[in-house]
Amino acid sequence: MTETLTIAQFYLEGKNSGKVLGLICDKGHTTVPPRHSCRVCNSTQLTVKELTGRGKIVSFTEVYAKSKDFPLATPYTLALVELEEGGNLLGVLDEKGTSLGAKVKVNFRIIRSDSAQPTIFFQRI
Ligand SMILES: [Zn+2]
Repeated sequence: MTETLTIAQFYLEGKNSGKVLGLICDKGHTTVPPRHSCRVCNSTQLTVKELTGRGKIVSFTEVYAKSKDFPLATPYTLALVELEEGGNLLGVLDEKGTSLGAKVKVNFRIIRSDSAQPTIFFQRI
């Protein structure tokens, strides 16, 4: 069976229910954010699965540049998080100061009044 999950559906579900949806291929790899094929083996035999939204920080950086398209107080921390099931998400850390390996959970949040697409935040757990 093959199911599809678009980026728009991924963000809509996150905004509406807080759920983090990913795609699982027939070999068990997790792909998130969603793509048309498995990020590991390129299989297109995919099913949609709700993920835990939990993971650990594998990389992070401080952002000092202001942007009207991304209205956050600077500096903020942008982090790359490897989810428990596999796959990586990029998002904003809720708090200042972190370390590699810190455990976090995904938290979708709207930061622009003119856009329905939420931004991925991570909070420490
Ligand atoms: Zn795969």
